[in-house]
Amino acid sequence: MRKKIVAGNWKMNLMNQEALLLFNTISSKLDKDSIANVMVFPPSLFVHQLANSENSEITIGVQNFYPKDKGAFTGEISVSQVKDSGATSVLIGHSERRAYFNETHQFLKEKVDSAIDYELEVIFCCGEPLEIRENNSEMSYVKKQLEASLFHLDGDTIKKCVIAYEPVWAIGTGKTATIAQAEEMHAAIRFWLTEKYNSEIAESISILYGGSCNASNANELFSCPNVDGGLIGGAALDAEAFLQITNSF
Ligand code: PEP
Repeated sequence: MRKKIVAGNWKMNLMNQEALLLFNTISSKLDKDSIANVMVFPPSLFVHQLANSENSEITIGVQNFYPKDKGAFTGEISVSQVKDSGATSVLIGHSERRAYFNETHQFLKEKVDSAIDYELEVIFCCGEPLEIRENNSEMSYVKKQLEASLFHLDGDTIKKCVIAYEPVWAIGTGKTATIAQAEEMHAAIRFWLTEKYNSEIAESISILYGGSCNASNANELFSCPNVDGGLIGGAALDAEAFLQITNSF
């Protein structure tokens, strides 16, 4: 069975004590019988502390990093520093980074390679803006994102990655993709993986849905055959809502 994953993207929210409280609450109340692999992506300043806290089943990742070992890149956090912090996963290709920080296909490819070099798990985000969906071009748009920055990996390497489909028009808007829209895109992504690699590899890769997923709609979304969990923004800041999502399989 593919790994089921619920990942919380805290974005640029929370003060240190609030982050600690949220993390400890989730950690202590996680249902031991839940089949979900639970991950959180806090602001980088909190990562070291959370990644090194004892007795937590939660995987810690970073929302961003710079794909160099070290050097004169003021304000950036290197891939080696991410590894050293104890984080084990990285988000790459989130639409907010593509849109507000001009992260290009080529730059995202460099981030993917750099994370792989450091044996960090890649959660690769893709998804179309509203105007692309309105033009009915979402399939070719998402396929291009994957081909340009992820599908250069060999089969053994891509198997270790996770893909998150996040339609941009659904992120932070309260407007969720319908079950049909989510399943259609997830099935297409799996088909492209089969075309490029093979069905064994395609069937082994977890594909998460992101975009206004919450405690009320997670169950329905996660019941889609090709949806293996969620990347959660707003609802990940509420411990009870997030915990409920982790039990929505
Ligand atoms: C996200 O930022 O990855 C996200 C899915 O946000 P939200 O759940 O708030 O739409």
